[in-house]
Amino acid sequence: MSTTEYRANTRDMKFILHEMLKIEDTLLKREAFSEFGVDDVNMILDEAAKFAETVFGPINQEGDREGCKFDNGKVQVPKAYHEAYWKYIENGWNAIGIPADAGGQGAPSVLTTATGEMMTGASTSMGVYTGLTIGAARLIHSFGSDDLKNLYMEKMFSGEWAGTMQLTEPDAGSDVGAAKSVAKRAGDHYLISGTKMFISGAEQDLTENIIHAVLARVEGAPAGVKGLSLFIVPKILVNPDGSLGEPNDVNCGSIEEKIGMHASATCLMNLGENDNCRGYILGEEGQGIRLMFQMMNESRIGTALQGVALAGGAYLNSLSYAKERVQGVAIENARDPNASKVEIIKHPDVRRMLLTQKAYVEGMRAMLHYCAYHIDMAETAADKEEHDKHMGVAELLTPICKAYCTDMGFRCTELAIQTMGGSGCTADYPVEQHMRDLKPASIYEGTTGIQALDLLGRKVAMKGGSLFMNFISTLTEFVEAHKGNEAHKDLVAKLETGKDKLSEITMHLGSLSMGGDPLYPVLSATPYLFLFGDVLTAYLLTWQAVIAQEKLDALGKKPEEDAEAAFYSGKVMSARFFVNNLLPNAYGLIEGIMNGDRSALEIAEEAF
Ligand SMILES: Cc1cc2nc3c(=O)[nH]c(=O)nc-3n(C[C@H](O)[C@H](O)[C@H](O)COP(=O)(O)OP(=O)(O)OC[C@H]3O[C@@H](n4cnc5c(N)ncnc54)[C@H](O)[C@@H]3O)c2cc1C
Repeated sequence: MSTTEYRANTRDMKFILHEMLKIEDTLLKREAFSEFGVDDVNMILDEAAKFAETVFGPINQEGDREGCKFDNGKVQVPKAYHEAYWKYIENGWNAIGIPADAGGQGAPSVLTTATGEMMTGASTSMGVYTGLTIGAARLIHSFGSDDLKNLYMEKMFSGEWAGTMQLTEPDAGSDVGAAKSVAKRAGDHYLISGTKMFISGAEQDLTENIIHAVLARVEGAPAGVKGLSLFIVPKILVNPDGSLGEPNDVNCGSIEEKIGMHASATCLMNLGENDNCRGYILGEEGQGIRLMFQMMNESRIGTALQGVALAGGAYLNSLSYAKERVQGVAIENARDPNASKVEIIKHPDVRRMLLTQKAYVEGMRAMLHYCAYHIDMAETAADKEEHDKHMGVAELLTPICKAYCTDMGFRCTELAIQTMGGSGCTADYPVEQHMRDLKPASIYEGTTGIQALDLLGRKVAMKGGSLFMNFISTLTEFVEAHKGNEAHKDLVAKLETGKDKLSEITMHLGSLSMGGDPLYPVLSATPYLFLFGDVLTAYLLTWQAVIAQEKLDALGKKPEEDAEAAFYSGKVMSARFFVNNLLPNAYGLIEGIMNGDRSALEIAEEAF
């Protein structure tokens, strides 16, 4: 029975970029992206798919089985990772999103979102090494002194050296401000001491140097996040001429045995055990968390991509399986003992599971591209007003992207296993690895609970609630423009109901908070994030259905006879299924919030 190691869905990506967001009419007209034409974009997508499928895909299972090995402070990544990593670098994939002024291709985020999905879907662990390196290098690009830029940036952007982000400590996980790591001023540098844990890629044998971005508190700085500063801490010190010097006093104490992502080393790091861990400040003292947010926001979207990518891979695998696995007879022949057996894709319940996965995957993929598109539009805006408008969309939606895509993506991988029955549970097929590899994504870069607090406690209320109101206005405009659409007016009407209910519940929680009951909104924050995500997904899929229907009508062909007609018909079905079957989940969540039940707050700890 055939399943794919990894297969990219470039057709859906091209649909989002060209037919939905129409980047050639908007984004690609901007000076910053004028080098990218439609053909370039499509060529990059096709080449990325080829690379992901032929280089990263084949090492994924091997990496999982072999895992990382720890011995006396050193980490060995799986053997096959070496060749694949350097092929990635040599083929220039790491340079694609690097700003043009730093020697990269300066591609828009909306394009690197697509290529990133393919790379991380083919090998999530590899995507962690490459993604963190670019994120850390971008910190130096944005906030480093000229010396730091000269010494570190180029080698990191070129992939010669790797990068990490070091926030978490044994007593500082979600509560980043509880970090105890200390930085003492020592002339042109600082001496850092502390213990960091769960640090991805902080020790590995892929690159000769690793540059850590570390949060620590300068002696005497206030408690909490405001007292944190951000430092560049190289594994090997770099001489003024750029050559490598002595090892720095930063060592890996152990690596975690964890649920998945076995090829990504998750390290316990000891900094300054011999009082000689040199760090170099980025920005100024006390700015650490603000600066680190650049990398954290990028990483949140990168983590959300893992959700879409692995759910997408699991969906396509379970689809291949369902088309080949023969079991049982069609329901209409259930009483006929001689009826021929059918492929499981013929069974209604299997079709329901497949279409659930397809709808979520396409909705989440659209969500991440939509968010990236607004980031690109903001970064290339002509004025502040336009910048703030687009950045507001990205700011509001980032916590939803992160939490919704990782959690719903995980549920999709579980559903892919369910679709395949016993085979899905076995190591003979890749979906069980997809599920294991995805679980940590709803925990790192801020857990789902923390994203929900960010959404409801910060983003929705930000700028007098204007980000939220602008989002509602966007949905209202869409509803007004399409409520007369013959083919989809029922979907548009249901979307309108979802939008109105989202507004209502937001006002309700806001008034509880203002009325002196902050606890209940905090209790409701996670269900609120998911119902918001459901309405957002319904909007994006309905938008896609309207476009797809027009294309389908113009083609005038049946899905059975034409691949394009099949694609567009599938888009329409994803939207219809989501709005009719999955959007109602949001109403259940709303009812749960509106009924005011406080049992989770009131239950005595002894009664749990
Ligand atoms: C595979 C992996 C890789 C990682 N890589 C990195 C890395 O590269 N760099 C790095 O710095 N860190 C990394 N981390 C650490 C990760 O960011 C933390 O695990 C995460 O922030 C959660 O912290 P914690 O594990 O201490 O859980 P805790 O903070 O103890 O949280 C436990 C539970 O309590 C909830 N909770 C905690 N506080 C609150 C609150 N105020 N309100 C509501 N709920 C709350 C959480 O949502 C969660 O459900 C990684 C973790 C893993 C598993």
